[in-house]
Amino acid sequence: TEACLTAINGADKLNAFVHKTPEIAREMAARADARLASGDAPAMCGIPVGIKDVFCTKGVPSQAASRILEGFKPEYESTVTQNLWDAGAIMLGKLNMDEFAMGSSNESSVYGKAINPWKIDARDLTPGGSSGGSAAAVAADLCLAATGTDTGGSIRQPAAFTGTVGIKPTYGRVSRWGTIAYASSLDQAGPMTKTVRDAAIMLGAIASVDAKDSTSADRPVPDYEAALSGDIRGKKIGIPREYRIEGLNAEVDAVWNKAADMLRDAGAEIVDISLPHAKYALPAYYVIAPAEASSNLARYDGVRFGRRAKLGAGDGIVEMYERTRAEGFGPEVQRRVMIGTYVLSAGFYDAYYNRARKVRALIKRDFDQAYAAGVDAILAPATPSPAFGLGEMTGADPVEMYLNDVFTVTLNLAGLPGVSVPVGLSASGLPLGMQLIGRPWEEGELLNLAQVLE
Ligand code: GLN
Repeated sequence: TEACLTAINGADKLNAFVHKTPEIAREMAARADARLASGDAPAMCGIPVGIKDVFCTKGVPSQAASRILEGFKPEYESTVTQNLWDAGAIMLGKLNMDEFAMGSSNESSVYGKAINPWKIDARDLTPGGSSGGSAAAVAADLCLAATGTDTGGSIRQPAAFTGTVGIKPTYGRVSRWGTIAYASSLDQAGPMTKTVRDAAIMLGAIASVDAKDSTSADRPVPDYEAALSGDIRGKKIGIPREYRIEGLNAEVDAVWNKAADMLRDAGAEIVDISLPHAKYALPAYYVIAPAEASSNLARYDGVRFGRRAKLGAGDGIVEMYERTRAEGFGPEVQRRVMIGTYVLSAGFYDAYYNRARKVRALIKRDFDQAYAAGVDAILAPATPSPAFGLGEMTGADPVEMYLNDVFTVTLNLAGLPGVSVPVGLSASGLPLGMQLIGRPWEEGELLNLAQVLE
């Protein structure tokens, strides 16, 4: 814990930790020492971790990197973080992210950009987003692991950009209670770690059956670490031909082939599969996610949480709402609220929101059919390219940034688990991540396959 606290103080330029909690960390470390000494040491006893700012942590600022939640210190602890503390983990502080987890580069944060510890010729790169602070902190050894959340790729893409491991569990495996909501039918928290084994241990700690989240699955949490047998003989791995998009980065393509070879060499069978509706995933996602976001973000009205705008003489409640939301939400969040409100409005609901929901069902059916045909997991890139430069995707067209999510959003729509594992480096020396997509509730098997790629 002391080593991490020192490393964190020496790495302010990465802007990964936006709120440091050294006193809490030392107090928790002392308790962990006592538990270790008494021989009663749970799975993560004494492991210092960082927490994405989207998780509510009691008495500690939890802002989802938004101005509108300035000054908000929750009265309660999220289930994920409570599970971590119960497992003996130690909180080092809160981590940077895109505002309300909307983004793929950690550039929309009220705290400013987070920086990737990996560089090309001293040029600053994005650690990805929205869990950019988590990925940067793990990659730079500021903590042993971090929490992330993944609505459309925000665990897997930053993991791929920083040479770390990130898993998005099956929807419902991890409780969403106390995690500030983006798009509730897609959001799922998960571990961001240095190794697959660490991810297995941490997933076992944070997953739980939780009566406080009605979408939390009523299934016992298996021992994920015990699933890491290393034996993948006879497993069938599907390569979805629709993911071979035109203009795919040649290095990403090469690493994809390399990963397939690694799995084949370990005894798996590689088969071609088709996910015919995959190409509609991105447009469907960018209707459904903003729709849910516009509804979830309606609660930030200047009354219940965080910041309220200063009012002038004669201003009433409508002006208070308008000014609070105009000042409190950044431009990307405002864009999503407008898109979401539009696609849900009378007259457009059927054309956009309902159509996107139908597409979502077809995307899920593609996966169901692949798994019914005996495929155990699906191998695809996590991202279309290695980490890009800061400012490179924040031009006039927001769709450029959205295109980064082309390989990740499908499984959020289908509710499936997916893990991103670093497999090799690009010619410029940057990490590249491959994604394995698993059967629902089979995170253990998925991590066992992923370990072969490490
Ligand atoms: N980049 C995607 C978005 O902006 C995904 C974000 C996420 O998974 N939280 O919506």
